[in-house]
Amino acid sequence: MKRLFLNKGRYHGETLDIANYLREFHEAALNRGWVAAHFGTIGGFQLHGYARIPPSPTRAIYISTGIHGDEPAGPVALRRLVEEDQWPADASLYICPCINPTGLAANTRENNRGIDLNRDYRHIQSDEVRAHAAWLDTLPRFDLSLILHEDWEAEGYYVYEVNLDQGPAPGACILQAVREVAPIQPTSKIDDAWDCIDGLIHPNIPPEERPLWAEALYLLVNKTRLSLTLEAPSDYPLELRVEAHVRAIRAALA
Ligand SMILES: [Zn+2]
Repeated sequence: MKRLFLNKGRYHGETLDIANYLREFHEAALNRGWVAAHFGTIGGFQLHGYARIPPSPTRAIYISTGIHGDEPAGPVALRRLVEEDQWPADASLYICPCINPTGLAANTRENNRGIDLNRDYRHIQSDEVRAHAAWLDTLPRFDLSLILHEDWEAEGYYVYEVNLDQGPAPGACILQAVREVAPIQPTSKIDDAWDCIDGLIHPNIPPEERPLWAEALYLLVNKTRLSLTLEAPSDYPLELRVEAHVRAIRAALA
């Protein structure tokens, strides 16, 4: 688990050929029975969400990634999970691999108009988020939402867990599974705001007091009561971060 020390001032690690990625993801998903919903076209790239609904589902789970263009591990991890094709038989699944193709093409956090899409869900300015939110609004509520990100400054993996009903939540199990393959963020302050204890953060600011909404806040207001945002440390090799996210999702679904 060797830190690379490449990330000076921003992410400088491996990147993704996003056109190729989107093509491969789409083909892999359709071949395994996912139903695709085309919800937008951005810079010539097609945006899709995918659904997979078993005969008698007892829960609904949402997984998304690819909203920050300098965070390739989430999209690669989600493609790997789709290729592995091992999903719980009792869950309806809704997944979104990428809503920021122009950012991934340029290895920038923001889209090609300089908008941070993950701050755009309250007063929507971007075509990407408008299209994504419209697709989300067609879906049922989720019992669990999982969002894959990366942090270029982090020393280890960490999780934001918002659990509005205080029921069982998978944050601690996720970190236990990740610990085998990746370092966990030491106890610290994240972004000078959040107490991160053993890799787990419980943010507690009401959405109406936040001027800008991330995707997770949009989901907490409109679609779910349990939202986890998973952050891989992107100053480590891509394969380690992908494996950490894959294990995290498997643990959360189990
Ligand atoms: Zn991010």
